[in-house]
Amino acid sequence: MPHYLCHEAPDLLEFDTDVIDARPGAIVLARSALHPGGGGQVSDVATLTHAHGVARIVGVSFENGRYWHLLDPEHAALELSGDVHVSIDADWRSTVAQLHTDTHILNALVYRQFAGALVTGAQINGDGTARMDFDLPDADNDLLRALEAPLNDVIRQGLDVRATYVSASDARSTPGLIRSLSVAPPPTPDGKIRIVEIGTLDRQACGGTHLTNTAQSRPVRIAKIENKGRRNRRVRIELC
Ligand SMILES: [Zn+2]
Repeated sequence: MPHYLCHEAPDLLEFDTDVIDARPGAIVLARSALHPGGGGQVSDVATLTHAHGVARIVGVSFENGRYWHLLDPEHAALELSGDVHVSIDADWRSTVAQLHTDTHILNALVYRQFAGALVTGAQINGDGTARMDFDLPDADNDLLRALEAPLNDVIRQGLDVRATYVSASDARSTPGLIRSLSVAPPPTPDGKIRIVEIGTLDRQACGGTHLTNTAQSRPVRIAKIENKGRRNRRVRIELC
């Protein structure tokens, strides 16, 4: 994982840049503050103003070391060049950041209550819904459902959320830091792993976008618990 501009400048939602490569319906930008997605988190979306009009950036595809910004289907044939202005969808970014921080809180509560249960998958969407899969072969689903109250308690407590970087070897040797190989970020080019801390509740490797304080999240509800195979429990949450 490179150092993302969106992590260094989380408030940068409007920027001018150049198209440095294009194919029909997709562009590579000279610089981009969009989060490209990954680790279960969807990418940012944005409005793109170009010489001939306006299009939507609806996704980001990482291909051969470059981030292709994908245009909406209406502009699938458009091959752009030159200067562009990008305006990241702030509501979408906020929704995803709320849910991402909330899934870490849920993860911490499950990890604590069910003796180190690991995450086997996660999906965080821009529509206010998310799911997490846990390796929990013997869990009582009612106990999982009952985590809704403590989850909202942590949100209300207003814990600070911070991101730091540690060496990849320190990250691997610290128990619990890398919760899941399926959602852990790869190291940066200089061998660092990004760590996201929520107060003293949770500390784990993550490349996603987060709140800076848990109280910035709306309350959440646990919408559904599903059994996925013999070992996995899928917990679906929604912002209220
Ligand atoms: Zn994360």
